[in-house]
Amino acid sequence: MKASTLRIGYRYRPERLAKKYDAVVIGSGMGGLTTAALLSDLGWKVCVLEQHYTAGGYTHSYERNGYEWDVGVHYIGDVGAQTRTRKMFDYLSNGKIDWAPMDAEYDRFYIGEKVFNAKAGKEEFRLNLIRQFPNEEKAIDHYLKLLNKAGNAIPAYGMKRIFSFWQYVAMWPYLFLKSPRCLFRNTYDVLSELTDDQDLIAVLCGQWGDMGLPPKQSTFIVHAMIVRHYLHGGYYPIGGSWKISESIIPKIQATGGDVFTYARVEQVSVENGKVVGVEMADGHRIECECVISSAGVGNTFKHLLSADVAGNAGYKQKLKSVEPSSAYLGVYIGLQSTAEELGLPKTNFWIYPDSDYDGAVERFSAGEDDQFPVIYISFPSAKDPDYINRHPGTATIEIVAPAPYQWFEKWRDETWGKRGEDYDTLKNQLGERLIEHLYEKLPTLRGKVDYYEVSTPLSTNWFGGYQEGELYGLSHTPKRMQQKWLRPKTDIPGLWLTGQDILTCGVTGAMMAGFLTTASIVGMRKIAPLSKRIYS
Ligand SMILES: Cc1cc2nc3c(=O)[nH]c(=O)nc-3n(C[C@H](O)[C@H](O)[C@H](O)COP(=O)(O)OP(=O)(O)OC[C@H]3O[C@@H](n4cnc5c(N)ncnc54)[C@H](O)[C@@H]3O)c2cc1C
Repeated sequence: MKASTLRIGYRYRPERLAKKYDAVVIGSGMGGLTTAALLSDLGWKVCVLEQHYTAGGYTHSYERNGYEWDVGVHYIGDVGAQTRTRKMFDYLSNGKIDWAPMDAEYDRFYIGEKVFNAKAGKEEFRLNLIRQFPNEEKAIDHYLKLLNKAGNAIPAYGMKRIFSFWQYVAMWPYLFLKSPRCLFRNTYDVLSELTDDQDLIAVLCGQWGDMGLPPKQSTFIVHAMIVRHYLHGGYYPIGGSWKISESIIPKIQATGGDVFTYARVEQVSVENGKVVGVEMADGHRIECECVISSAGVGNTFKHLLSADVAGNAGYKQKLKSVEPSSAYLGVYIGLQSTAEELGLPKTNFWIYPDSDYDGAVERFSAGEDDQFPVIYISFPSAKDPDYINRHPGTATIEIVAPAPYQWFEKWRDETWGKRGEDYDTLKNQLGERLIEHLYEKLPTLRGKVDYYEVSTPLSTNWFGGYQEGELYGLSHTPKRMQQKWLRPKTDIPGLWLTGQDILTCGVTGAMMAGFLTTASIVGMRKIAPLSKRIYS
Protein backbone atom coordinates (compact mmCIF):
# COMPACT_ATOMS: atom_id res chain seq x y z
CA MET A 1 0.00 0.00 0.00
CA LYS A 2 1.50 3.36 -1.05
CA ALA A 3 1.42 5.94 1.73
CA SER A 4 0.00 9.43 1.48
CA THR A 5 2.28 12.21 0.27
CA LEU A 6 -0.15 15.09 0.51
CA ARG A 7 0.95 16.93 3.66
CA ILE A 8 0.70 20.57 4.68
CA GLY A 9 2.55 22.33 7.52
CA TYR A 10 5.96 21.63 9.05
CA ARG A 11 6.80 18.78 11.34
CA TYR A 12 7.03 19.96 14.94
CA ARG A 13 10.37 19.88 16.71
CA PRO A 14 11.05 21.99 19.83
CA GLU A 15 14.13 23.54 18.18
CA ARG A 16 11.94 24.80 15.29
CA LEU A 17 9.81 26.94 17.60
CA ALA A 18 10.30 30.70 17.74
CA LYS A 19 11.42 32.17 21.08
CA LYS A 20 8.09 33.84 21.65
CA TYR A 21 4.58 33.75 20.22
CA ASP A 22 1.70 36.13 20.88
CA ALA A 23 -0.80 33.27 20.68
CA VAL A 24 -0.83 29.50 20.46
CA VAL A 25 -3.68 27.79 18.60
CA ILE A 26 -4.46 24.14 19.32
CA GLY A 27 -5.71 22.45 16.14
CA SER A 28 -5.43 23.51 12.51
CA GLY A 29 -9.04 23.02 11.33
CA MET A 30 -10.96 25.85 9.75
CA GLY A 31 -11.70 27.44 13.14
CA GLY A 32 -8.07 27.37 14.29
CA LEU A 33 -6.60 28.51 10.97
CA THR A 34 -9.11 31.35 10.60
CA THR A 35 -8.35 32.68 14.08
CA ALA A 36 -4.60 32.32 13.49
CA ALA A 37 -4.76 34.04 10.08
CA LEU A 38 -6.87 36.96 11.29
CA LEU A 39 -4.71 37.52 14.38
CA SER A 40 -1.64 37.35 12.12
CA ASP A 41 -3.23 39.94 9.88
CA LEU A 42 -3.43 42.19 12.94
CA GLY A 43 0.31 41.74 13.48
CA TRP A 44 0.30 38.85 15.96
CA LYS A 45 2.86 36.08 15.78
CA VAL A 46 0.88 32.85 16.09
CA CYS A 47 1.89 29.20 16.49
CA VAL A 48 -0.64 26.60 15.31
CA LEU A 49 -0.13 23.12 16.76
CA GLU A 50 -1.74 20.21 14.94
CA GLN A 51 -1.54 16.63 16.23
CA HIS A 52 -2.20 15.04 12.80
CA TYR A 53 0.49 14.52 10.13
CA THR A 54 -1.08 17.26 8.00
CA ALA A 55 -2.77 20.57 8.69
CA GLY A 56 -6.38 21.43 7.85
CA GLY A 57 -8.45 19.38 10.32
CA TYR A 58 -11.58 18.20 8.51
CA THR A 59 -10.53 20.20 5.43
CA HIS A 60 -7.49 17.99 4.84
CA SER A 61 -7.31 15.50 1.96
CA TYR A 62 -5.28 12.33 1.73
CA GLU A 63 -3.86 10.19 -1.04
CA ARG A 64 -3.48 6.45 -1.21
CA ASN A 65 -2.88 4.03 -4.08
CA GLY A 66 -3.02 6.84 -6.63
CA TYR A 67 -6.36 8.25 -5.42
CA GLU A 68 -7.15 11.34 -3.39
CA TRP A 69 -10.13 11.86 -1.07
CA ASP A 70 -11.44 14.71 1.03
CA VAL A 71 -12.58 13.85 4.56
CA GLY A 72 -14.91 16.65 5.67
CA VAL A 73 -15.68 18.91 2.70
CA HIS A 74 -18.27 17.62 0.25
CA TYR A 75 -19.82 20.90 -0.73
CA ILE A 76 -19.75 24.52 0.39
CA GLY A 77 -22.57 26.98 -0.22
CA ASP A 78 -22.79 30.74 -0.60
CA VAL A 79 -19.54 31.16 -2.54
CA GLY A 80 -20.90 31.64 -6.07
CA ALA A 81 -21.30 35.42 -5.62
CA GLN A 82 -19.68 38.14 -3.51
CA THR A 83 -21.42 37.03 -0.30
CA ARG A 84 -19.95 37.50 3.18
CA THR A 85 -18.89 33.84 3.13
CA ARG A 86 -17.09 34.25 -0.18
CA LYS A 87 -15.43 37.48 0.93
CA MET A 88 -14.10 35.81 4.05
CA PHE A 89 -12.68 32.86 2.08
CA ASP A 90 -11.12 35.33 -0.39
CA TYR A 91 -9.61 37.42 2.37
CA LEU A 92 -8.11 34.48 4.25
CA SER A 93 -6.66 32.93 1.10
CA ASN A 94 -5.71 36.12 -0.76
CA GLY A 95 -8.23 35.06 -3.41
CA LYS A 96 -6.44 31.75 -3.99
CA ILE A 97 -9.43 29.42 -3.48
CA ASP A 98 -11.37 28.87 -6.68
CA TRP A 99 -14.77 27.23 -6.59
CA ALA A 100 -16.42 24.90 -9.10
CA PRO A 101 -20.23 24.79 -9.13
CA MET A 102 -21.93 21.44 -8.73
CA ASP A 103 -24.88 20.41 -10.92
CA ALA A 104 -27.97 22.62 -10.59
CA GLU A 105 -29.48 19.60 -8.83
CA TYR A 106 -26.97 19.68 -5.98
CA ASP A 107 -28.78 17.26 -3.63
CA ARG A 108 -30.92 14.25 -4.57
CA PHE A 109 -33.08 12.55 -1.96
CA TYR A 110 -34.02 8.90 -2.33
CA ILE A 111 -36.84 8.47 0.18
CA GLY A 112 -37.97 4.85 0.07
CA GLU A 113 -39.09 4.33 -3.53
CA LYS A 114 -39.54 8.05 -4.22
CA VAL A 115 -36.93 10.46 -5.59
CA PHE A 116 -36.89 14.23 -4.94
CA ASN A 117 -34.23 16.88 -5.26
CA ALA A 118 -33.04 20.38 -4.34
CA LYS A 119 -32.18 22.84 -7.10
CA ALA A 120 -29.83 25.82 -7.04
CA GLY A 121 -31.20 29.38 -7.02
CA LYS A 122 -33.78 30.89 -4.68
CA GLU A 123 -36.63 31.01 -7.20
CA GLU A 124 -35.66 27.72 -8.86
CA PHE A 125 -35.55 26.07 -5.43
CA ARG A 126 -39.10 27.32 -4.76
CA LEU A 127 -40.49 26.39 -8.20
CA ASN A 128 -38.85 22.99 -8.03
CA LEU A 129 -40.49 22.30 -4.64
CA ILE A 130 -43.85 23.43 -6.02
CA ARG A 131 -43.35 21.15 -9.05
CA GLN A 132 -42.79 18.24 -6.68
CA PHE A 133 -45.63 19.24 -4.31
CA PRO A 134 -48.20 21.17 -6.41
CA ASN A 135 -50.79 21.29 -3.59
CA GLU A 136 -48.35 22.75 -1.10
CA GLU A 137 -47.50 26.13 -2.65
CA LYS A 138 -48.78 28.09 0.35
CA ALA A 139 -46.81 25.97 2.83
CA ILE A 140 -43.67 26.26 0.69
CA ASP A 141 -43.92 30.06 0.54
CA HIS A 142 -44.56 30.23 4.27
CA TYR A 143 -41.51 28.02 4.83
CA LEU A 144 -39.29 30.24 2.68
CA LYS A 145 -40.44 33.30 4.65
CA LEU A 146 -39.57 31.53 7.88
CA LEU A 147 -36.13 30.64 6.49
CA ASN A 148 -35.60 34.32 5.76
CA LYS A 149 -36.61 35.33 9.26
CA ALA A 150 -34.31 32.75 10.82
CA GLY A 151 -31.53 33.73 8.40
CA ASN A 152 -31.80 37.36 9.46
CA ALA A 153 -31.43 36.26 13.07
CA ILE A 154 -28.14 34.44 12.52
CA PRO A 155 -25.77 37.47 12.75
CA ALA A 156 -27.40 38.46 16.06
CA TYR A 157 -27.01 34.89 17.30
CA GLY A 158 -23.30 35.08 16.50
CA MET A 159 -22.83 38.53 18.05
CA LYS A 160 -24.38 37.41 21.33
CA ARG A 161 -21.43 35.03 21.67
CA ILE A 162 -18.96 37.88 21.98
CA PHE A 163 -20.85 40.65 23.75
CA SER A 164 -19.88 41.61 27.27
CA PHE A 165 -22.69 41.81 29.81
CA TRP A 166 -23.19 45.55 29.25
CA GLN A 167 -23.06 45.30 25.48
CA TYR A 168 -25.67 42.58 25.73
CA VAL A 169 -27.92 44.75 27.89
CA ALA A 170 -27.54 47.70 25.50
CA MET A 171 -28.28 45.54 22.45
CA TRP A 172 -31.07 43.54 24.05
CA PRO A 173 -34.02 45.22 22.23
CA TYR A 174 -32.30 44.62 18.87
CA LEU A 175 -31.41 41.04 19.77
CA PHE A 176 -34.95 40.38 20.99
CA LEU A 177 -36.47 41.70 17.75
CA LYS A 178 -34.07 39.59 15.74
CA SER A 179 -34.95 36.34 17.51
CA PRO A 180 -38.16 34.81 16.15
CA ARG A 181 -39.82 32.22 18.36
CA CYS A 182 -39.09 29.37 15.96
CA LEU A 183 -35.29 29.55 16.30
CA PHE A 184 -34.76 27.10 19.11
CA ARG A 185 -37.77 24.85 18.54
CA ASN A 186 -37.27 21.45 17.00
CA THR A 187 -37.38 21.47 13.21
CA TYR A 188 -40.20 18.94 12.87
CA ASP A 189 -42.55 20.90 15.15
CA VAL A 190 -41.95 24.09 13.18
CA LEU A 191 -42.50 22.40 9.81
CA SER A 192 -45.55 20.39 10.86
CA GLU A 193 -47.33 23.68 11.64
CA LEU A 194 -46.91 24.56 7.95
CA THR A 195 -47.93 21.28 6.34
CA ASP A 196 -49.21 17.75 7.01
CA ASP A 197 -47.44 16.36 3.97
CA GLN A 198 -44.80 14.05 5.45
CA ASP A 199 -43.01 13.75 2.11
CA LEU A 200 -42.65 17.53 1.87
CA ILE A 201 -41.30 17.68 5.44
CA ALA A 202 -38.90 14.89 4.53
CA VAL A 203 -37.66 16.76 1.45
CA LEU A 204 -37.23 20.02 3.39
CA CYS A 205 -35.19 18.05 5.95
CA GLY A 206 -33.40 15.97 3.31
CA GLN A 207 -30.06 17.52 4.33
CA TRP A 208 -30.38 16.58 8.01
CA GLY A 209 -27.15 14.64 7.70
CA ASP A 210 -25.37 18.00 7.24
CA MET A 211 -25.92 18.65 10.96
CA GLY A 212 -26.22 15.06 12.16
CA LEU A 213 -29.67 15.22 13.77
CA PRO A 214 -33.05 14.19 12.33
CA PRO A 215 -35.90 16.76 12.38
CA LYS A 216 -37.52 15.84 15.72
CA GLN A 217 -34.19 16.32 17.49
CA SER A 218 -32.62 19.18 15.55
CA THR A 219 -32.91 22.93 16.11
CA PHE A 220 -34.70 25.05 13.55
CA ILE A 221 -31.97 27.73 13.52
CA VAL A 222 -29.39 25.17 12.38
CA HIS A 223 -31.80 23.69 9.83
CA ALA A 224 -32.37 27.21 8.44
CA MET A 225 -28.63 27.99 8.34
CA ILE A 226 -27.94 24.86 6.32
CA VAL A 227 -30.80 25.17 3.84
CA ARG A 228 -29.99 28.86 3.24
CA HIS A 229 -26.30 28.08 2.93
CA TYR A 230 -26.93 25.83 -0.08
CA LEU A 231 -29.90 27.72 -1.53
CA HIS A 232 -27.80 29.06 -4.40
CA GLY A 233 -26.16 25.69 -5.02
CA GLY A 234 -23.17 23.69 -3.88
CA TYR A 235 -19.52 24.43 -4.75
CA TYR A 236 -16.32 22.48 -4.48
CA PRO A 237 -12.79 23.89 -3.99
CA ILE A 238 -10.90 23.41 -7.26
CA GLY A 239 -7.75 21.35 -6.63
CA GLY A 240 -9.26 19.52 -3.64
CA SER A 241 -10.31 20.46 -0.13
CA TRP A 242 -6.67 20.61 1.09
CA LYS A 243 -6.32 23.79 -1.04
CA ILE A 244 -8.28 25.62 1.66
CA SER A 245 -5.63 25.26 4.36
CA GLU A 246 -2.76 25.45 1.89
CA SER A 247 -3.91 28.88 0.78
CA ILE A 248 -4.61 30.24 4.29
CA ILE A 249 -1.33 29.21 5.94
CA PRO A 250 0.86 31.83 4.15
CA LYS A 251 -1.09 34.56 5.98
CA ILE A 252 0.01 33.04 9.28
CA GLN A 253 3.61 32.67 8.14
CA ALA A 254 3.74 36.24 6.82
CA THR A 255 4.11 37.66 10.34
CA GLY A 256 6.58 34.99 11.47
CA GLY A 257 3.95 32.54 12.63
CA ASP A 258 4.19 28.76 12.29
CA VAL A 259 1.91 25.82 11.57
CA PHE A 260 3.33 22.61 13.00
CA THR A 261 2.08 19.06 12.44
CA TYR A 262 2.76 15.98 14.61
CA ALA A 263 2.34 18.56 17.39
CA ARG A 264 0.03 17.08 19.99
CA VAL A 265 -0.77 19.34 22.91
CA GLU A 266 -1.07 17.31 26.07
CA GLN A 267 -2.22 20.02 28.43
CA VAL A 268 -3.01 23.70 28.68
CA SER A 269 -0.81 24.95 31.53
CA VAL A 270 -2.55 27.12 34.10
CA GLU A 271 -0.79 28.82 37.01
CA ASN A 272 -2.48 31.01 39.60
CA GLY A 273 -5.72 30.71 37.67
CA LYS A 274 -4.23 32.04 34.41
CA VAL A 275 -3.05 30.35 31.24
CA VAL A 276 0.73 30.35 30.92
CA GLY A 277 1.23 28.11 27.90
CA VAL A 278 0.84 24.55 26.66
CA GLU A 279 2.62 21.32 27.40
CA MET A 280 3.39 19.18 24.38
CA ALA A 281 3.17 15.37 24.23
CA ASP A 282 7.01 15.27 24.23
CA GLY A 283 7.05 17.18 27.52
CA HIS A 284 8.21 20.48 26.02
CA ARG A 285 6.47 23.60 27.38
CA ILE A 286 5.58 26.46 25.02
CA GLU A 287 5.05 29.58 27.08
CA CYS A 288 2.28 31.91 25.99
CA GLU A 289 -0.42 33.85 27.79
CA CYS A 290 -2.98 33.48 25.03
CA VAL A 291 -4.05 29.95 24.07
CA ILE A 292 -6.90 29.30 21.66
CA SER A 293 -8.34 25.80 21.51
CA SER A 294 -10.09 24.57 18.39
CA ALA A 295 -9.79 20.97 19.54
CA GLY A 296 -13.46 20.82 20.57
CA VAL A 297 -15.13 21.72 23.83
CA GLY A 298 -15.10 18.14 25.17
CA ASN A 299 -11.38 17.73 24.52
CA THR A 300 -10.55 21.14 25.93
CA PHE A 301 -12.36 20.84 29.23
CA LYS A 302 -12.07 17.09 29.81
CA HIS A 303 -8.56 16.38 28.54
CA LEU A 304 -6.50 19.52 27.94
CA LEU A 305 -7.24 21.13 31.29
CA SER A 306 -6.63 19.46 34.61
CA ALA A 307 -9.82 18.26 36.33
CA ASP A 308 -9.26 20.82 39.11
CA VAL A 309 -8.97 23.79 36.79
CA ALA A 310 -11.97 22.76 34.64
CA GLY A 311 -14.02 21.90 37.74
CA ASN A 312 -13.22 25.13 39.60
CA ALA A 313 -14.23 27.19 36.57
CA GLY A 314 -17.55 25.33 36.43
CA TYR A 315 -16.96 23.53 33.14
CA LYS A 316 -17.47 20.06 34.56
CA GLN A 317 -21.04 21.04 35.34
CA LYS A 318 -21.56 22.97 32.09
CA LEU A 319 -20.48 19.97 30.01
CA LYS A 320 -23.54 18.12 31.30
CA SER A 321 -25.73 20.33 29.10
CA VAL A 322 -24.14 19.09 25.86
CA GLU A 323 -23.43 15.75 24.22
CA PRO A 324 -21.25 14.56 21.35
CA SER A 325 -22.79 14.25 17.88
CA SER A 326 -23.15 10.74 16.51
CA ALA A 327 -20.25 8.77 15.10
CA TYR A 328 -19.94 7.68 11.48
CA LEU A 329 -18.36 5.39 8.89
CA GLY A 330 -16.64 6.66 5.76
CA VAL A 331 -16.05 4.57 2.63
CA TYR A 332 -13.38 5.91 0.27
CA ILE A 333 -13.61 4.36 -3.18
CA GLY A 334 -11.22 4.48 -6.16
CA LEU A 335 -12.09 3.57 -9.76
CA GLN A 336 -9.84 3.11 -12.80
CA SER A 337 -11.86 5.33 -15.17
CA THR A 338 -12.58 9.04 -15.12
CA ALA A 339 -15.72 10.59 -13.63
CA GLU A 340 -16.77 11.55 -17.15
CA GLU A 341 -16.28 8.05 -18.54
CA LEU A 342 -18.28 6.63 -15.62
CA GLY A 343 -21.00 9.28 -15.92
CA LEU A 344 -20.64 10.32 -12.27
CA PRO A 345 -22.84 13.27 -11.27
CA LYS A 346 -21.91 16.46 -9.42
CA THR A 347 -24.92 15.77 -7.22
CA ASN A 348 -24.93 14.40 -3.67
CA PHE A 349 -27.14 11.39 -3.01
CA TRP A 350 -29.04 11.06 0.26
CA ILE A 351 -30.63 7.63 0.70
CA TYR A 352 -33.35 7.09 3.31
CA PRO A 353 -35.46 3.97 4.04
CA ASP A 354 -38.62 6.14 4.24
CA SER A 355 -39.83 9.61 5.24
CA ASP A 356 -39.83 8.85 8.99
CA TYR A 357 -36.23 9.91 9.56
CA ASP A 358 -36.51 10.01 13.35
CA GLY A 359 -38.10 6.57 13.55
CA ALA A 360 -35.29 5.08 11.44
CA VAL A 361 -32.61 6.72 13.62
CA GLU A 362 -34.31 5.54 16.80
CA ARG A 363 -34.57 1.94 15.62
CA PHE A 364 -30.97 1.94 14.37
CA SER A 365 -29.61 3.47 17.59
CA ALA A 366 -31.55 1.00 19.72
CA GLY A 367 -30.13 -1.88 17.68
CA GLU A 368 -33.68 -2.92 16.62
CA ASP A 369 -32.97 -2.43 12.94
CA ASP A 370 -29.61 -2.65 11.22
CA GLN A 371 -30.80 -0.66 8.18
CA PHE A 372 -28.76 2.54 7.95
CA PRO A 373 -31.15 5.47 8.63
CA VAL A 374 -29.23 7.64 6.15
CA ILE A 375 -26.55 6.97 3.55
CA TYR A 376 -24.80 9.86 1.89
CA ILE A 377 -22.85 9.48 -1.37
CA SER A 378 -20.52 12.11 -2.84
CA PHE A 379 -18.57 12.16 -6.11
CA PRO A 380 -15.55 14.41 -5.40
CA SER A 381 -13.58 13.71 -8.58
CA ALA A 382 -16.64 14.73 -10.62
CA LYS A 383 -17.00 17.95 -8.62
CA ASP A 384 -13.35 18.97 -8.90
CA PRO A 385 -12.40 19.86 -12.51
CA ASP A 386 -8.70 19.65 -11.56
CA TYR A 387 -8.85 16.12 -10.11
CA ILE A 388 -8.17 14.58 -13.51
CA ASN A 389 -4.88 16.52 -13.81
CA ARG A 390 -3.63 15.24 -10.45
CA HIS A 391 -4.85 11.66 -10.86
CA PRO A 392 -5.35 10.98 -14.58
CA GLY A 393 -7.61 8.13 -15.63
CA THR A 394 -9.17 7.69 -12.17
CA ALA A 395 -12.26 8.69 -10.21
CA THR A 396 -13.31 8.66 -6.56
CA ILE A 397 -16.54 8.23 -4.63
CA GLU A 398 -17.21 8.61 -0.91
CA ILE A 399 -19.96 7.20 1.25
CA VAL A 400 -20.84 8.35 4.77
CA ALA A 401 -23.26 6.62 7.15
CA PRO A 402 -23.84 6.65 10.89
CA ALA A 403 -22.27 3.96 13.08
CA PRO A 404 -22.27 3.81 16.88
CA TYR A 405 -18.88 4.19 18.54
CA GLN A 406 -19.74 1.13 20.66
CA TRP A 407 -19.45 -1.13 17.59
CA PHE A 408 -15.71 -0.44 17.59
CA GLU A 409 -14.97 0.46 21.21
CA LYS A 410 -13.19 -2.79 22.01
CA TRP A 411 -10.36 -1.83 19.64
CA ARG A 412 -9.97 1.71 20.96
CA ASP A 413 -6.57 1.12 22.57
CA GLU A 414 -5.08 -0.48 19.45
CA THR A 415 -2.86 1.38 16.99
CA TRP A 416 -4.22 2.61 13.65
CA GLY A 417 -3.56 0.07 10.89
CA LYS A 418 -2.88 -2.70 13.45
CA ARG A 419 -6.27 -3.39 14.95
CA GLY A 420 -6.33 -6.97 13.79
CA GLU A 421 -8.31 -9.28 11.55
CA ASP A 422 -11.68 -9.03 13.34
CA TYR A 423 -11.67 -5.28 13.03
CA ASP A 424 -10.71 -5.41 9.35
CA THR A 425 -13.39 -8.02 8.66
CA LEU A 426 -16.08 -5.89 10.31
CA LYS A 427 -14.92 -2.85 8.34
CA ASN A 428 -15.01 -4.77 5.07
CA GLN A 429 -18.48 -6.15 5.76
CA LEU A 430 -19.79 -2.65 6.44
CA GLY A 431 -17.96 -1.26 3.40
CA GLU A 432 -19.46 -3.94 1.12
CA ARG A 433 -22.95 -3.27 2.48
CA LEU A 434 -22.65 0.45 1.82
CA ILE A 435 -21.17 -0.06 -1.66
CA GLU A 436 -24.22 -2.23 -2.51
CA HIS A 437 -26.35 0.90 -2.00
CA LEU A 438 -24.12 2.73 -4.49
CA TYR A 439 -24.60 -0.06 -7.07
CA GLU A 440 -28.34 0.04 -6.49
CA LYS A 441 -28.41 3.69 -7.55
CA LEU A 442 -25.71 3.46 -10.23
CA PRO A 443 -25.73 -0.19 -11.47
CA THR A 444 -23.14 0.41 -14.21
CA LEU A 445 -20.48 0.86 -11.50
CA ARG A 446 -20.71 -2.79 -10.43
CA GLY A 447 -17.36 -4.47 -11.11
CA LYS A 448 -15.60 -1.14 -11.62
CA VAL A 449 -14.43 -0.49 -8.05
CA ASP A 450 -10.64 -0.88 -8.01
CA TYR A 451 -9.98 -0.03 -4.36
CA TYR A 452 -11.86 0.97 -1.24
CA GLU A 453 -11.16 1.52 2.41
CA VAL A 454 -13.37 2.19 5.39
CA SER A 455 -12.91 4.69 8.20
CA THR A 456 -14.61 4.06 11.55
CA PRO A 457 -15.20 6.25 14.62
CA LEU A 458 -11.76 5.05 15.77
CA SER A 459 -10.18 6.59 12.65
CA THR A 460 -11.91 9.90 13.43
CA ASN A 461 -10.55 9.66 16.94
CA TRP A 462 -7.04 8.83 15.72
CA PHE A 463 -6.77 11.53 13.05
CA GLY A 464 -9.08 14.26 14.37
CA GLY A 465 -8.92 13.76 18.12
CA TYR A 466 -12.72 13.37 18.48
CA GLN A 467 -13.03 11.05 21.49
CA GLU A 468 -16.06 9.06 20.30
CA GLY A 469 -15.51 9.53 16.58
CA GLU A 470 -18.18 12.22 16.43
CA LEU A 471 -19.10 13.64 13.06
CA TYR A 472 -19.69 17.28 14.00
CA GLY A 473 -18.30 17.94 17.48
CA LEU A 474 -21.19 18.71 19.84
CA SER A 475 -24.68 17.57 18.91
CA HIS A 476 -26.81 20.46 17.57
CA THR A 477 -29.77 20.02 19.94
CA PRO A 478 -32.02 22.97 20.92
CA LYS A 479 -30.43 22.82 24.39
CA ARG A 480 -26.87 23.07 23.04
CA MET A 481 -27.74 25.96 20.74
CA GLN A 482 -28.90 27.99 23.75
CA GLN A 483 -25.84 27.44 25.95
CA LYS A 484 -24.39 30.87 26.66
CA TRP A 485 -21.05 29.46 27.83
CA LEU A 486 -20.31 28.11 24.34
CA ARG A 487 -18.50 31.29 23.42
CA PRO A 488 -14.92 32.25 22.54
CA LYS A 489 -14.04 33.73 25.92
CA THR A 490 -13.72 31.19 28.71
CA ASP A 491 -13.74 31.80 32.45
CA ILE A 492 -10.07 30.90 32.56
CA PRO A 493 -8.06 34.05 31.75
CA GLY A 494 -5.94 33.52 28.64
CA LEU A 495 -7.95 30.54 27.30
CA TRP A 496 -10.20 31.03 24.27
CA LEU A 497 -12.30 28.64 22.22
CA THR A 498 -13.01 28.49 18.51
CA GLY A 499 -14.27 26.09 15.83
CA GLN A 500 -17.52 24.26 15.21
CA ASP A 501 -18.55 23.91 18.87
CA ILE A 502 -18.77 27.67 19.29
CA LEU A 503 -21.27 28.35 16.50
CA THR A 504 -22.26 25.42 14.28
CA CYS A 505 -20.62 22.69 12.29
CA GLY A 506 -19.65 23.21 8.67
CA VAL A 507 -16.53 24.73 7.18
CA THR A 508 -18.25 28.11 7.07
CA GLY A 509 -19.57 27.69 10.62
CA ALA A 510 -16.04 27.00 11.89
CA MET A 511 -14.64 29.88 9.81
CA MET A 512 -17.20 32.33 11.23
CA ALA A 513 -16.38 31.02 14.72
CA GLY A 514 -12.75 31.92 13.94
CA PHE A 515 -13.82 35.46 13.15
CA LEU A 516 -15.84 35.72 16.38
CA THR A 517 -12.92 34.41 18.43
CA THR A 518 -10.58 36.97 16.88
CA ALA A 519 -13.12 39.73 17.57
CA SER A 520 -13.48 38.56 21.13
CA ILE A 521 -9.72 38.54 21.71
CA VAL A 522 -8.82 41.87 20.12
CA GLY A 523 -12.00 43.80 20.90
CA MET A 524 -14.39 45.82 18.77
CA ARG A 525 -12.00 48.72 18.09
CA LYS A 526 -9.50 46.47 16.32
CA ILE A 527 -11.94 44.11 14.65
CA ALA A 528 -13.99 46.90 13.04
CA PRO A 529 -11.27 48.02 10.58
CA LEU A 530 -10.36 44.40 9.86
CA SER A 531 -14.00 43.63 9.22
CA LYS A 532 -14.15 46.59 6.84
CA ARG A 533 -11.15 45.23 4.92
CA ILE A 534 -12.73 41.78 4.68
CA TYR A 535 -16.20 42.85 3.66
CA SER A 536 -15.51 45.96 1.56
C1 LIG B 1 -17.63 13.25 6.88
C2 LIG B 1 -17.80 14.74 7.01
C3 LIG B 1 -18.32 15.46 5.95
C4 LIG B 1 -18.48 16.84 6.05
N1 LIG B 1 -18.93 17.53 4.96
C5 LIG B 1 -19.03 18.88 5.02
C6 LIG B 1 -19.41 19.63 3.88
O1 LIG B 1 -19.67 19.06 2.82
N2 LIG B 1 -19.46 20.98 3.97
C7 LIG B 1 -19.18 21.63 5.14
O2 LIG B 1 -19.23 22.86 5.17
N3 LIG B 1 -18.82 20.94 6.25
C8 LIG B 1 -18.74 19.60 6.22
N4 LIG B 1 -18.34 18.89 7.32
C9 LIG B 1 -18.15 19.60 8.60
C10 LIG B 1 -16.88 20.42 8.63
O3 LIG B 1 -15.84 19.73 8.00
C11 LIG B 1 -16.51 20.73 10.08
O4 LIG B 1 -17.63 21.19 10.78
C12 LIG B 1 -15.41 21.78 10.21
O5 LIG B 1 -14.40 21.58 9.27
C13 LIG B 1 -14.85 21.73 11.63
O6 LIG B 1 -13.76 22.63 11.76
P1 LIG B 1 -13.08 22.85 13.17
O7 LIG B 1 -11.96 23.79 12.98
O8 LIG B 1 -14.09 23.20 14.19
O9 LIG B 1 -12.56 21.41 13.62
P2 LIG B 1 -11.55 20.38 12.95
O10 LIG B 1 -11.48 20.57 11.49
O11 LIG B 1 -11.93 19.05 13.46
O12 LIG B 1 -10.14 20.81 13.56
C14 LIG B 1 -9.77 20.50 14.88
C15 LIG B 1 -8.30 20.09 14.85
O13 LIG B 1 -7.79 19.99 16.16
C16 LIG B 1 -6.80 18.97 16.15
N5 LIG B 1 -6.55 18.56 17.54
C17 LIG B 1 -7.41 17.95 18.39
N6 LIG B 1 -6.81 17.74 19.58
C18 LIG B 1 -5.55 18.23 19.47
C19 LIG B 1 -4.43 18.29 20.37
N7 LIG B 1 -4.51 17.83 21.63
N8 LIG B 1 -3.28 18.84 19.92
C20 LIG B 1 -3.18 19.34 18.66
N9 LIG B 1 -4.20 19.29 17.78
C21 LIG B 1 -5.37 18.75 18.19
C22 LIG B 1 -7.43 17.89 15.30
O14 LIG B 1 -6.49 16.97 14.83
C23 LIG B 1 -8.08 18.72 14.20
O15 LIG B 1 -7.21 18.86 13.10
C24 LIG B 1 -18.15 17.51 7.25
C25 LIG B 1 -17.61 16.78 8.32
C26 LIG B 1 -17.44 15.42 8.21
C27 LIG B 1 -16.84 14.65 9.35
